[in-house]
Amino acid sequence: DIGGGVLLTVSGVSRSFGGVKALNDVSFELRRGEILGLIGPNGSGKSTMINACSGTVGVSGAIALGTDRIDNRAPWTIHGHGVARIFQNVRLWESMTVLENVMVAHRAPLGQTGSREAHSRAAALEALSSMGVAHLAYRRGGDLSFGQSRLVEMARAIVNKPRLLLLDEPAAGLRGGLILELAQILQHLRAQGMSILVVEHRIKLVMNMCDRVVVLNLGDKIADGAPAEVMNSPAVIEAYLGE
Ligand code: ADP
Ligand code: MG
Repeated sequence: DIGGGVLLTVSGVSRSFGGVKALNDVSFELRRGEILGLIGPNGSGKSTMINACSGTVGVSGAIALGTDRIDNRAPWTIHGHGVARIFQNVRLWESMTVLENVMVAHRAPLGQTGSREAHSRAAALEALSSMGVAHLAYRRGGDLSFGQSRLVEMARAIVNKPRLLLLDEPAAGLRGGLILELAQILQHLRAQGMSILVVEHRIKLVMNMCDRVVVLNLGDKIADGAPAEVMNSPAVIEAYLGE
């Protein structure tokens, strides 16, 4: 959608755990072809929001992808709508090759019996190339460095060409060079038409890679807008000083 319509609409979303309000009436929109940063101090509800959008946490309020409600739906249903995610902890099958790790995540279209494996192989190789790790295809999952595993896990997330990619701290634990590479990869995915919601706490990285930012603090949305504008907002500065 060249006009940049809205892809994801979060309206009045709340979630409590015992007495803790992890999300308190949070609303925002993510436009098509946008990299939207979700930031805020520790415990502000970022992961809970990612989990709500991917179906692993129930909420009150509404979350819609286009015109389809996805709140309180099963993770595989949401995945079927074209939403993919990576988890904070990387999980690859250690004894499978990298290529097989990505192939098992591929959903081959029905009615392609003869060429199903070839189809998955091609899709997996393409996803690995997008992440700059096609050269690792025949290594074992268990033989990769932490950073390489992260990129392979991202290849797994994009192998079905999702419309929306949910990333919870994708740069956590990565070294400087790889962090810059990751930022470039996200820009490249966006250029291919993917929309991205990314949790990140490194302000500099957020400023470099995000088109817009939503800021949470103690479950409340305290700001949203262009990165430079949001970072100068008194409410945001205060929230980060109080961390
Ligand atoms: P963030 O990702 O911004 O650090 P989280 O979404 O993980 O924040 O957590 C927000 C708040 O909700 C925190 O106070 C956290 O302890 C609480 N919380 C999150 N998930 C659970 C859970 N499964 N059970 C109990 N409390 C939780
Ligand atoms: Mg978190």
